[in-house]
Amino acid sequence: MSVVPEQADTVIIGGGVVGLATAYHLAAAGAGSVVLVEKDAFGSGSTTRSAGGVRAQFSDEINVRLGQHGLRVFERFAELFGQEIDFHQVGYLFLLDNPADVATFEASVAMQNSLGVPSRMISPAEAQRLSPLISTDGLLAAAFSPEDGHCDPSGVCQGYASAARRRGATLVSGCPATGADVDRSGTTPRVRAVHTRAGSIRTERVIIAAGAWSKQVGSWFGVDLPVEPLRRQILVTEPVSGLRGDTPMTIDFATTFYFHNEGPGLLMGMSDPDETPGFKLTPDQAWLPGLIEAMSRRTPSLEDVGIATQWAGLYEVTPDANGLVGQFEEVPGVFYCTGFSGHGFLLGPALGEVMTSLVRGDEPFVDVSGFDVARFAGDDLRPEINIV
Ligand SMILES: Cc1cc2nc3c(=O)[nH]c(=O)nc-3n(C[C@H](O)[C@H](O)[C@H](O)COP(=O)(O)OP(=O)(O)OC[C@H]3O[C@@H](n4cnc5c(N)ncnc54)[C@H](O)[C@@H]3O)c2cc1C
Repeated sequence: MSVVPEQADTVIIGGGVVGLATAYHLAAAGAGSVVLVEKDAFGSGSTTRSAGGVRAQFSDEINVRLGQHGLRVFERFAELFGQEIDFHQVGYLFLLDNPADVATFEASVAMQNSLGVPSRMISPAEAQRLSPLISTDGLLAAAFSPEDGHCDPSGVCQGYASAARRRGATLVSGCPATGADVDRSGTTPRVRAVHTRAGSIRTERVIIAAGAWSKQVGSWFGVDLPVEPLRRQILVTEPVSGLRGDTPMTIDFATTFYFHNEGPGLLMGMSDPDETPGFKLTPDQAWLPGLIEAMSRRTPSLEDVGIATQWAGLYEVTPDANGLVGQFEEVPGVFYCTGFSGHGFLLGPALGEVMTSLVRGDEPFVDVSGFDVARFAGDDLRPEINIV
């Protein structure tokens, strides 16, 4: 039976990477008492169901800066948090087979380089030298950055959870938040409490970090977070002989078929164009024919490899595939950090720092005002293009 404190300076709803990193950074900064409530186990939402890919190769400068910062943290995670995360810094390789994508990636690589990211455009032949399982059929070019890679999301969640507790934060798993009290008697609404299955917590500050479930949580405060759950599926193959340890995270950009080493096998995924929004967490077979078709074209030698495990998770999708980060003007004290549309794991370390700055009223180390939810009221959207 969970127990929650009766009062907290900040209540965080959601214990995925975003909530946990935020709890750690708030507690480490001495920004008052912090209580995080998670409805299931820490990381059990989308974070530990993810592919664990980490990168700075994006088309949007905010994502590049946040991702780049994340890479610096993942490189030193064991030293900083005393937790191994199995970081393989093998690079991300985007394979490109149409001229429009090549032009877009060329522009993104130039922007990334201007921010210190060592990404570069390479030829199909060089791409195959880096990732020998691929066929170069139809490829025009590729983009590669050696500092990207993949690591273990469970380790990252454990590292942040333990470090947050050491710094005095209270983290409660198996404890769904169920609603909130908002005092609307004055000119400006004020948060008064968050209700949970284990009791109510008096607070004037809430951070919504509920991933794919954020829309519902936002509705308790009378605000709209445009986040839709969309199932994505992953499988891990049986051992693949001759697999090179330094194989990059390889992405066939046009189909979104991707793979990276996972023990003696490969972890693979691909979006399903027929998938519809909803809280679907059970894997099925319907996406496999599309995956097999993409695989037989791009990695023909893998066609007969067996499946060892398969699972499904939720992307937390926004209309422009960019995250939502800020504080609601209409209900001060309600902050949000969600909607990272399939690349929130790698952004987690940076977001924990950004949220701590926003709560303290400081300038974050990256200007995230472009991720304010108010952007959807205008027509100045900049969709993230490098999505998988
Ligand atoms: C198949 C797949 C592959 C992916 N691959 C990658 C990748 O390679 N790289 C990458 O960066 N990202 C990847 N992602 C995306 C990544 O997993 C998410 O962007 C990231 O985990 C979001 O973190 P979060 O903390 O916002 O959400 P979550 O991890 O979902 O955490 C939110 C938490 O809130 C909890 N919650 C919800 N409602 C309540 C409530 N009422 N009370 C209490 N708790 C509540 C949930 O249980 C959940 O644990 C992938 C996702 C999927 C599904």
